[in-house]
Amino acid sequence: MSHLPEFANNLLSWFDQHGRKNLPWQQSTDPYPVWVSEVMLQQTQVATVIPFYEKFMLAFPDPKALARASLDEVLHRWTGLGYYARARNLHKAANIIINDLGGVFPSDQADLMRLPGIGRSTAGAIAAICFNHQSAILDGNVKRVLARCFAVSGWPGKKSVSDRLWAIAEANTPFNRVADYTQAIMDLGATLCNKSLPDCHRCPLQQSCIAFQTTTINEFPGKKPATTRPTRSTCMLILRNPNGAIMLERRALNGLWGGLFSFPECARNELPDHLKNIQGTVTWLPSFKHGFTHFDLDIQPILVQLNEPFRQLEESQTRWISSLQENKIGMTGPVTRLLAGLF
Ligand code: SF4
Repeated sequence: MSHLPEFANNLLSWFDQHGRKNLPWQQSTDPYPVWVSEVMLQQTQVATVIPFYEKFMLAFPDPKALARASLDEVLHRWTGLGYYARARNLHKAANIIINDLGGVFPSDQADLMRLPGIGRSTAGAIAAICFNHQSAILDGNVKRVLARCFAVSGWPGKKSVSDRLWAIAEANTPFNRVADYTQAIMDLGATLCNKSLPDCHRCPLQQSCIAFQTTTINEFPGKKPATTRPTRSTCMLILRNPNGAIMLERRALNGLWGGLFSFPECARNELPDHLKNIQGTVTWLPSFKHGFTHFDLDIQPILVQLNEPFRQLEESQTRWISSLQENKIGMTGPVTRLLAGLF
């Protein structure tokens, strides 16, 4: 390995001894499992991802199965994992691979980036791990490792900082053993070089890590500039028929929780037009907050125990459910939580 740059060489020696090699998606270099896992890992920790990944792969073992499935089924398998655009984009991309690309997965980073939901880092990971292309990655963990090792100051969300990190990532990605290197740098960021308590004394990069050598680890990566987090509010109407079934409506595909089933929503004291004539006993349940990446949503659930059975006109956009298990549809986190308290 002496022909590898020192940074890669040190990482690979460490990986050979200590890297994670038994994660479920590491058992083959087929691009489909690697793609699914990379998308799941975009905003979620490994330990949370594993059970979702295993169930998802059982339900949709290959791109053809995923493309054939309905969006409801896909969102159902994603319920609880959050960031549902990831599931919608996986489904859309599987359809493109099967219907437009003859079932052949692109192998090049630039071609992969043309698929919905695959950004530069995810494309780099797939190209490197599955096709041995010398493609760099820069996920959250790798940003932290590189920012510390090369003392890159500033918030990585800022373009100039991100450009600098990408340049460093590309300069250090080796031609040989690129798949192992990609796993290695992701592993190091997820294990030793973690956010709050990096284990520098076991780190193979210690000698060259500027942040360690200058005891400035806490300064890297730079923090996001403080902004005020906006809060929005909504009322969720829980309509319960006399037989106990509760109504859910499919949300519009574009927008928050797109394609998932949720309760009808309204502003305080203002019922949506299609529900103006309902009659029943109204109970205001305790309100709670749900956090999104860019804002908080204050949710006021209102339970309406209907006097008469109520039927929606647009049946395809509506489900009446009597238990959490019986429906194979995607539901938002707050809906699952509210229903769990009502059934
Ligand atoms: S020496 Fe410490 S801060 Fe530097 S890369 Fe290793 S774990 Fe991270």
